[in-house]
Amino acid sequence: MFKKVLIANRGEIALRVNRACREMGIRTVAVHSTADATAMHVRLADESVCIGPPLARDSYLNMAAILSAAHITGAEAIHPGYGFLSENADFAEMVEAHGLAFIGPTAEHIRMMGDKIAAKDAMRSLGVPLVPGSDGALGSLEEAREVAERVKYPVLIKAAAGGGGRGMKVAHSADELEEAWRVARTEAKAAFGNDAVYMEKYLDRPRHIELQVLADMYGNVVHFGERDCSLQRRHQKLVEEAGSPALTPGEREDIGAQVTQGLSKLGYRNAGTLEFLWQDGQFSFIEMNTRLQVEHPVTEMVSGVDLVKEQIRIAAGEPLGYGQDAVCFSGHAIECRITAEDPDTFVPSPGRVTTFHAPGGLGVRVDSALYSGYSVPPNYDSLVAKLIVHGTTRAEAIARMRRALEEMVVDGIKTTLPLHQRIMNDPQFQSGDYTIHWLERFVGLKD
Ligand code: ADP
Repeated sequence: MFKKVLIANRGEIALRVNRACREMGIRTVAVHSTADATAMHVRLADESVCIGPPLARDSYLNMAAILSAAHITGAEAIHPGYGFLSENADFAEMVEAHGLAFIGPTAEHIRMMGDKIAAKDAMRSLGVPLVPGSDGALGSLEEAREVAERVKYPVLIKAAAGGGGRGMKVAHSADELEEAWRVARTEAKAAFGNDAVYMEKYLDRPRHIELQVLADMYGNVVHFGERDCSLQRRHQKLVEEAGSPALTPGEREDIGAQVTQGLSKLGYRNAGTLEFLWQDGQFSFIEMNTRLQVEHPVTEMVSGVDLVKEQIRIAAGEPLGYGQDAVCFSGHAIECRITAEDPDTFVPSPGRVTTFHAPGGLGVRVDSALYSGYSVPPNYDSLVAKLIVHGTTRAEAIARMRRALEEMVVDGIKTTLPLHQRIMNDPQFQSGDYTIHWLERFVGLKD
């Protein structure tokens, strides 16, 4: 096992990885920008290294600075968390070229899944069902027109290099296609430096259901069931659940078996998530994330497995040591992503947190790097806390989340706590019957 791990991230996820390391008896190295000198992840790690100025490009994305920090401190492995360098295949390659372990998949698989067209090709060849659309990149507007006629409007133009909901445009009819094509390509070029786009049929009432998997270096792959992430705004998740209120155990087993067999064939290793749209009982693959996800705690709450410890064990060369039969689920878990934003306008609200009080009690978990007196810097993602609850049933989990939201105090900045309260109190949410389009209408109601 590693003696020392460098955590190449900040915020709640740096704390999350730190926790797993401490419990495993592994020493930790935090890295931080000058804006994060007083951050909680720096305080809790055994050692810390400043890797540059506030701009992420110069610090958390600065591969040379991070590798130097690993060498200076004698770290043997790097955990990238999510975001930043976590899906950068060049970084994974560099880490290994320097004789360190990258706690994640191989560079080859990160690269393959980072190109959504290549990812869909791989899944097609493994027999995983896809959303109908173009067979690969669209060569021209004319080709886009042909594919749209074939799969029927509405259609979605998506960036091959896409992420975070960017570079995605809907065309409801032929009149809107040219504009969607142009805007998606321009956005993709600006955000990812790559204007390759492809087309998918735009599903009108799907749920977003994703499957968590873990694979060791010896071809053993298990899944940890699904997460339902249908509550989204601008294609970004706000609330996640495990399991999905829409799925039966049989459906879970079927898709799980298909995915684990496919990934074993592919030789995939470490943690991964396959994202699907689910409509009328049909799964359609949209993308694979080759990293730990923000919403992984809901899976941990229902399975009792620490996914970060598993990632570290796998990266150190240990076999999984258990099969699918050993993975059991109990109860229901919900996560609310609490961001430093105005709950009505979503305008970012960085600044000093005068009081922070975390809720507690049975079945409540808070993953957050906040503390009273901490200043949320304006430079990074606005996620400041994940509030996660577990209950024996979905109804109990909702009741628990409602009371935990009431207990939580974040004063000094605006947060989305009031929005989460409105969602949890809503009868439609409580019924479990909603699609990926529900939340935007719900938020719009108030605007
Ligand atoms: P990103 O990598 O930018 O997050 P995804 O491909 O994961 O993009 O899609 C993000 C979200 O966009 C999905 O969860 C879903 O809500 C919506 N979406 C993606 N593809 C489709 C589609 N074909 N039809 C309807 N909604 C879609």
